[in-house]
Amino acid sequence: MALTLELRDLHAEIEGKEILKGITLRIEQGQFHALMGPNGSGKTTLSRVIMGDRRYKITGGGIFLNGEEITNLPTYERARRGLFLTFQNPVELQGVKLFTFLRSSYLVHYPNDGRSFQEFITYVQSKARLLNMDTTLLSRGVNEGFSGGERKKAEILQMSLIKPRIAIVDEIDSGLDVDALEAVAKSLKDTIYSEPRMGVLLITHYQRILKYLSPDIVHVMIDGKIIMSGDYSLALKIEEKGYEWIREIK
Ligand code: ADP
Ligand code: MG
Repeated sequence: MALTLELRDLHAEIEGKEILKGITLRIEQGQFHALMGPNGSGKTTLSRVIMGDRRYKITGGGIFLNGEEITNLPTYERARRGLFLTFQNPVELQGVKLFTFLRSSYLVHYPNDGRSFQEFITYVQSKARLLNMDTTLLSRGVNEGFSGGERKKAEILQMSLIKPRIAIVDEIDSGLDVDALEAVAKSLKDTIYSEPRMGVLLITHYQRILKYLSPDIVHVMIDGKIIMSGDYSLALKIEEKGYEWIREIK
């Protein structure tokens, strides 16, 4: 059965400060949603709250997967049900080899995968090459000494192997040069649109990555609320005019 993620009037705070002020959103597997908004509007907070980051306190509403409430479920349970998050600022995991990390997380999702160890290595290398990623990174610690662009590629590599049912992709385009952006966008597109199609919430500040990916729906978040949704033309309008005009008409 296809997965549906639903946020119902979700409120969340951190350190006593309310950041999410009533988010209602429904993402079905196979749909591509983009979430745009100025810095500080709460986009990263939303991504973390969906994935179950315990630092945030949910003060109202809830999160549902196929109608089942998951608001208080631990992160690994959400991941097992098919949710995935790529981080805006991926952290280093010192001493954990990227390849080992990929292999372990892959086996959690596909315990009965028939590939031999050697075949898995070849498979990962082929995915890495699609990203124009230096395959020697696979034998280094996760993100250890990686450049910003290499970290972002490592996030997409994880995603393309695990193939989650619904992915939240937080500012994958930040810190990428034009060539890396294109490689990341292409690999993301391959991953999203291969069968079964994934559901995506792609968070971005800029329109430039969207032109490679053609989202179905574009939402605009300002000050902890989604205040406008529309088609791709909304992203183009934001690129041209910024966010102020939206604030003004609200
Ligand atoms: P965006 O991703 O849209 O730029 P964020 O979700 O990162 O926005 O931040 C939204 C607001 O939440 C900001 O005002 C930020 O300072 C605040 N915030 C985020 N994390 C914390 C934290 N750990 N402690 C206090 N405030 C935080
Ligand atoms: Mg952010």
